[in-house]
Amino acid sequence: MRFQYCPDCGSKLILKPIGDEGDTPWCERCQKPLFDMFSTCIIALVVNERGEAALLRQNYISQQYHNLVSGYMKPGETAEECARREIQEELGLTVTSLEFAGSWWFGKKDMLMLGFFAAAHSGEMKLSCEVDGAEWVPVEAALGLVHPRGSVSYAMVEAYLDRKNI
Ligand SMILES: [Zn+2]
Repeated sequence: MRFQYCPDCGSKLILKPIGDEGDTPWCERCQKPLFDMFSTCIIALVVNERGEAALLRQNYISQQYHNLVSGYMKPGETAEECARREIQEELGLTVTSLEFAGSWWFGKKDMLMLGFFAAAHSGEMKLSCEVDGAEWVPVEAALGLVHPRGSVSYAMVEAYLDRKNI
């Protein structure tokens, strides 16, 4: 999102050259830059002690493909806290360990996705109302069930398998 008006005071922004950034939208009244904005989300591949991944059915996202856990970050939260919270909210599972997997830019939604591999015990899942179903499937099988190659979920599963095979 590119600002044209200041979200704090409503003034029309001007372009002002700022250091290495070059011409940047600037509010004269608040004396501050308003850089283009994007959302930051986490996406998590949750794997249990049997090497199975938690795949979600979320009809509002896709009727065809399964999803990984994902969600928007809240202000004040670290990416790790967000990943633990989303996994708890969506699946009712407590994360036992968490590892940063990499980041992906999701251009269709102007979104930076921070990926995590999360370990959790395969206890009973308690699904949130945003989740229509969830199941454990072997990670190898997950490649054929998530959104196809080119998607962030696919890249995440592939990265997990690549790492396992090193
Ligand atoms: Zn302003």
